[in-house]
Amino acid sequence: MSQLQLHGFDPKADLLEWLPHDGETDLRLEDLQQMLDQHGNSIALLLLPGVQYYNGQVMDMAALCGMAADAGCKIGLDLAHAIGNVPLELHDWAPDFAAWCTYKYLNSGPGAIGGAFVHSRHLGKREAATLLGWWGHEESMRFRMAPTFTPAQGIEQWQLSNPPILSLAPVVASLQVFAEAGLDNLCDKSAQLTSYLDYLLQASFSGQIHSITPATARGCQLSLTVIDPDRDARQVFAKLERQNVIADWREPNVIRVAPAPLYNSYEDVYEFSQRLGTALG
Ligand SMILES: *Cc1c(COP(=O)(O)O)cnc(C)c1O
Repeated sequence: MSQLQLHGFDPKADLLEWLPHDGETDLRLEDLQQMLDQHGNSIALLLLPGVQYYNGQVMDMAALCGMAADAGCKIGLDLAHAIGNVPLELHDWAPDFAAWCTYKYLNSGPGAIGGAFVHSRHLGKREAATLLGWWGHEESMRFRMAPTFTPAQGIEQWQLSNPPILSLAPVVASLQVFAEAGLDNLCDKSAQLTSYLDYLLQASFSGQIHSITPATARGCQLSLTVIDPDRDARQVFAKLERQNVIADWREPNVIRVAPAPLYNSYEDVYEFSQRLGTALG
């Protein structure tokens, strides 16, 4: 909203929101398509999630990018809940840009440096709004301090200055662990862990707990609701916390749980279901 204001627009009139239908939680592509058909030529930017934070829905990012391209809209992906959680093919899907933090699945701690992707089709263009810094200069000539700017090859030309090394250090350490484990292995384990969690929930709590996360489009997160409207779901969450379960509460009524494949085990998932049983009483 403040971005819109900064650029002289009125958020009330100029922000278009892609929302689920009443009584649903999944975002439907056909609704976005309808919005594009109606407003496509006045939309400056589509800013969309890779994985929706509330219901854990993994978006069909290739489709989103294709729809944006067909409508002639720029598209940026918010990958805060996608990076380190689901496979990404950013170059091939070809959003204009993407951005992410590194303190969720990438474990780098709050305040660690974030990440950004700019598609290579934007490289080498001298768009008026492009800021350039000396660290984006072709390296071999950087220290000549010439009055002209010779861009480095590739994405390096977008670097403005030195990265902050202290907040970069945990990201480097984390990415080394990810490289060692292998994202394919992690995604395989993730699918199994989360399926196991889903199975235990259905086997033990089918009338009590419901996952709103689409089973066919999910990473490791399940967003759980307490079915009985007379039960205080917030109390269930508090009782989980008291048993040292690290989950997360999202208003109005969702408990997000995410068995992260890098460090959570099948035993952890089983333990969670036991403690959920205790929390439900
Ligand atoms: C966490 C998160 C971000 C990143 O937030 P910063 O703290 O500003 O890095 C962005 N989008 C969503 C949906 C998030 O959940």
